[in-house]
Amino acid sequence: MAGKVRVGVIGATGMVGQNYVRLLSNHPWFELTYVAASPRSAGKRYMEAVAGRWVLDEEVPAAVADLTVGDAGDVDAARRQCDLVFSAVEMDKEAVRELEERYAAQGLAVVSNNSAHRWTEDVPVLIPEVNPHHTEIIPFQRQNRGWDRGLIVVKPNCSLQSYLPPVYALLRAGYEVESMVVVTMQAVSGAGYPGPASIDMIDNIIPYIPGEEEKSEQEPRKILGFIQNGRIVPDHSIHISAHCNRVPALDGHLACVSLKFRSRKPALDEIVRIWRTFRAEPQELGLPFAPQPVLIYRDEPDRPQTRRDRDAGRGMAITIGRLRECPVLDVRFVALSHNTVRGAAGGAILSAELLKAKGYI
Ligand code: NAP
Repeated sequence: MAGKVRVGVIGATGMVGQNYVRLLSNHPWFELTYVAASPRSAGKRYMEAVAGRWVLDEEVPAAVADLTVGDAGDVDAARRQCDLVFSAVEMDKEAVRELEERYAAQGLAVVSNNSAHRWTEDVPVLIPEVNPHHTEIIPFQRQNRGWDRGLIVVKPNCSLQSYLPPVYALLRAGYEVESMVVVTMQAVSGAGYPGPASIDMIDNIIPYIPGEEEKSEQEPRKILGFIQNGRIVPDHSIHISAHCNRVPALDGHLACVSLKFRSRKPALDEIVRIWRTFRAEPQELGLPFAPQPVLIYRDEPDRPQTRRDRDAGRGMAITIGRLRECPVLDVRFVALSHNTVRGAAGGAILSAELLKAKGYI
């Protein structure tokens, strides 16, 4: 379609990939022209490749159903059919790093959900409302690697996208956070398809998600960091302690957060005012996937709730509630976001929109 950027999804058959297929349907700037997955799916019609494991309520979009699934390892095939790829493959980290770099070297923009490049110094970890300026590392990235049009940007872990934007809003308003304790309750879809066995999840909570607590404690440092000499320098000023739990919800990651401020502590009504008036670059630019508002504060004592609030702002808004004094730290609250939309495919589409609005694609 004239004027639209041709995009592909690698890992299109998985939990996140299916959400891309749904969310990119009728996107005003992007047209999904290419889907790829493992050699197990390659060569099949998309409809056949996801038969028996399509997890969404909506039908497979007609425009995608008959696309032939490519092999994600075949970069030349992708290059012929699209200019940007969303990467949602689940593979060994070293293999993902190497694969995403091959796409970028061939001139494709790569927006990834995988954690493989999150600690690469010249690769930004974007939450478009928090660190849109980290896109300024892209010219250094291209120069470092000899890429002309290619680039790699990545999404952070899905769990921290419920609580980092509300915390960032307070930082931006001038309130320094000294420490944060966060306890997450994360949906099963966060584990990909088919996820944990039902016999492990029904009537149960699993207090362990491999690697998740480390990501929740470390990734905010890079997102809140600054660019210096062509690399992103992490900010170590906030001490974070995370407990991550897998709970029997289908979608939606909920976080209970306690904060201690460094010197000045905001009043509770000031915090609510900051959240309710928070706008960032995606909202100012009017990006198609930017929720308005991005932070929704609810006054009811029993909200947010995973099932009722995860779809707020078409799954892109973050719902916050239960703000109160904390007798141990300073304040505490509950925050929720949709893990496969804001935390994965939707958040990555918003990142791609930001890249396009800034002229990087
Ligand atoms: P998933 O449901 O397991 O899907 C994995 C995808 O990777 C499938 O399309 C699969 O293709 C493909 N794949 C597997 N092995 C491959 C190989 N050797 N070569 C090429 N493609 C291969 O996983 P997911 O939950 O969608 O997660 C995808 C990525 O997003 C992961 O890195 C995950 O950590 C990240 N993420 C997930 C979430 C979430 O909420 N689920 C949130 C944020 C980030 P086949 O169908 O052909 O096997």
